[in-house]
Parts: sequence; structure tokens; C-alpha cells
Amino acid sequence: MNDCLFCKIVKGEIPSTKIYEDETVYVFEDINPTAPTHYLVIPKQHISKLDEIDASNSAVISHIYEVIAKLAKEKGLDEGFRVVSNCGESAGQSVFHIHFHLLAGRPLAWPAG
Ligand code: 5GP
Ligand code: ZN
Repeated sequence: MNDCLFCKIVKGEIPSTKIYEDETVYVFEDINPTAPTHYLVIPKQHISKLDEIDASNSAVISHIYEVIAKLAKEKGLDEGFRVVSNCGESAGQSVFHIHFHLLAGRPLAWPAG
């Protein structure tokens, strides 16, 4: 877990552009944005991926969605936005600390590839 990139970002050991922070959630800009708005929303606690969510840790996930809704209003994402969490390598997950991509600011094709 000490080697986890996003745990290091939460601890400030690796710099990031912070958008929002509270006791349990951290939001920062993706280093390689794929849309004009591309935030990564993560729990401060280490959860590797979506299929590790259960009754013991799901409260932070519902809080993450509250934070997303609040940020969407504050950042004026009225034209629409997308939330994506890739689970596993074949789904495109490259960092194994659960994260929710918040994407907005351009038309987003659907279905995604
Ligand atoms: P995944 O591919 O796991 O769904 O998403 C990982 C995301 O983390 C990618 O969009 C990638 O650009 C971003 N990322 C990887 N390393 C860093 C980093 O050191 N800092 C920031 N801010 N984002 C990163
Ligand atoms: Zn981690």
C-alpha cells in the first residue's frame, strides 16, 4: 500500500492540483486530461477497485457522489458530465486505488469504447 501512487498524492508526497478535500475524500486534476474538465475523485482510504466495495466501506462511495454533485454545481457543469470508474486492467484501470473520473466540457460520445 505504501507504493500506491494515489495514497502518496493524498499524503502530499507527490504533488497534485487540488480541487477539493474533506475528511474522507480528495479531488484533483488528472495529469493527462481527456476533457476540458477532468478531475479524479478518490477516497483517502485505500480501496483498490470497485469490486472491493462492500457494506464496510460503501459510505465513502456515497459521499463521493455527494461531492461530485456539489462540484458539478460549483463548477457550472450544467451542460452535462460523466463519471467513470474503470475496474480492472481490461476495463482500462491503470492506478489501483479506486477513483472516479469526472469528465465535462466537451460532447462525450456514448456508448464509450
Ligand atoms: P485509470 O486509467 O486507472 O482509470 O485512471 C488513472 C488516471 O490517473 C489516468 O487518467 C492518469 O492520467 C491519471 N494519473 C496517473 N498518474 C497521475 C499522477 O501522478 N498525477 C495525476 N494528477 N494523475 C495521474
Ligand atoms: Zn492507495
